[in-house]
Amino acid sequence: MSWDFSTDPDYQEQLEWMAEFVRREIWPLETIWPELGLEGLDKAIAPLQDQVKARGLWATHLPPELGGQGMGQVRLGLMHEVLGTSPIAPLAFGNAAPDSGNSEILAMAGTPEQKERWLTPLLAGDLRSAFSMTEPHTSGSDPTQLQTRAVRDGDGWVIDGHKWFSSNGSIADFLIVMAVSSPEARPSQRASMFIVPVETPGVEILRDVPTMEHPWEQFGGYGGHSEITYNSVRVPGEALLGGEGEGFVLAQQRLGPGRIHHCMRWLGVARRAFDMMCERATYRYAHGSVLAQKQTVQNWIADSAAEMQAARLMTLHAAWVMDSEGARAARTDVALIKFYGAKVLHDVVDRALQVHGSLGYSTDLPLEQMYRSARAARIYDGPDEVHRQSVARHILHGYQPPLDGVPSEHLPTRREQARERFAHILDAVTAND
Ligand SMILES: Cc1cc2nc3c(=O)[nH]c(=O)nc-3n(C[C@H](O)[C@H](O)[C@H](O)COP(=O)(O)OP(=O)(O)OC[C@H]3O[C@@H](n4cnc5c(N)ncnc54)[C@H](O)[C@@H]3O)c2cc1C
Repeated sequence: MSWDFSTDPDYQEQLEWMAEFVRREIWPLETIWPELGLEGLDKAIAPLQDQVKARGLWATHLPPELGGQGMGQVRLGLMHEVLGTSPIAPLAFGNAAPDSGNSEILAMAGTPEQKERWLTPLLAGDLRSAFSMTEPHTSGSDPTQLQTRAVRDGDGWVIDGHKWFSSNGSIADFLIVMAVSSPEARPSQRASMFIVPVETPGVEILRDVPTMEHPWEQFGGYGGHSEITYNSVRVPGEALLGGEGEGFVLAQQRLGPGRIHHCMRWLGVARRAFDMMCERATYRYAHGSVLAQKQTVQNWIADSAAEMQAARLMTLHAAWVMDSEGARAARTDVALIKFYGAKVLHDVVDRALQVHGSLGYSTDLPLEQMYRSARAARIYDGPDEVHRQSVARHILHGYQPPLDGVPSEHLPTRREQARERFAHILDAVTAND
């Protein structure tokens, strides 16, 4: 037996340091983020990054040979739960999306030259990147439909296509672009990844698409989702990342751990919203009592606590499966937590907002922002429905129709079988009557 829910004391100490550091040093920056702008934020965060590095907690998602800690997904997950409490914290720890995922792909599939040119400065925070896969006119849920093409041209490639929602595209130095390079191959082997510097002729970053999260027009800020056209973009052969036709395999490898980190970060957000809900309930007075004494509010608190605990254990379990049996074995567990975790995040933030009434709806509290960004969690990295479908398919593989067409649990049939099997006892009981 080796079931164990404890965290080893050394790492627990690191987690406590992170929690205190994030709350003391990073939460205050959230309130002046828009005033600081990109440059000011970088300046404010640089000394914090030095502290994180000194503590050995910088870019921990990578293996030790690339400067990471090789911590494994359970420890990383626990770390992301702490960092998730603030949208800025991952920047201070060198593991903000999409750079973290892109650095994983580069670490996994990059040549030594690609690593030196792109990965090393990306990890040092000297470059920024974006992942450019989703297109406005094809379904992102079914990327085998991608229309962006990469055509061989001498030693290099020419890329043509239209992408959007390439997060951080407008502040990136380079883009990792997914394009169909072998249209005749099997659908899952048609696409490849290419490293495209943003200044390459033909790359046009049209706009950051205004969203629920950032409803106002802006360009060139952290977290913008860029619309980009690639018009006869010529890149050299060395731009190919991984093998030709390996685009989907690499994307899957990037997404598995990334989804665990997302789910743990969502729990960090949910916990913060939950704390606000509980605090408000203790003193807001209406109709003869504080809100904490209303049964509906009590239900919301209890349901939220139960759901967060369930999501946390499910996510840590998925991380544990990934650590102990590998990413493939964890695929269904990861799909489960992706849609379940997104729902928990949404519901907890929604209840916390409701308990605060108009204050919750206002921008005087961070709840409305949490609510807007929570909505996106049900869409990015695969919409809920796709993950539910993949979980259900996996589960259904374990089932067969009954040979005789009768449900296995059909009571009259089972009763008949039991009567035959236990006839001697039934006969004796009847004889005694
Ligand atoms: C905040 C945010 C950040 C993002 N960042 C990036 C990024 O950095 N890089 C990038 O390339 N992309 C990014 N995306 C895009 C994201 O990956 C896609 O939006 C996602 O894959 C869904 O694709 P789609 O928007 O084309 O929706 P569609 O594929 O058109 O799906 C629309 C809806 O159809 C339904 N649906 C789809 N398939 C099924 C099914 N099998 N069964 C039942 N219903 C189904 C679902 O309800 C789904 O929501 C981001 C998106 C958001 C919201």
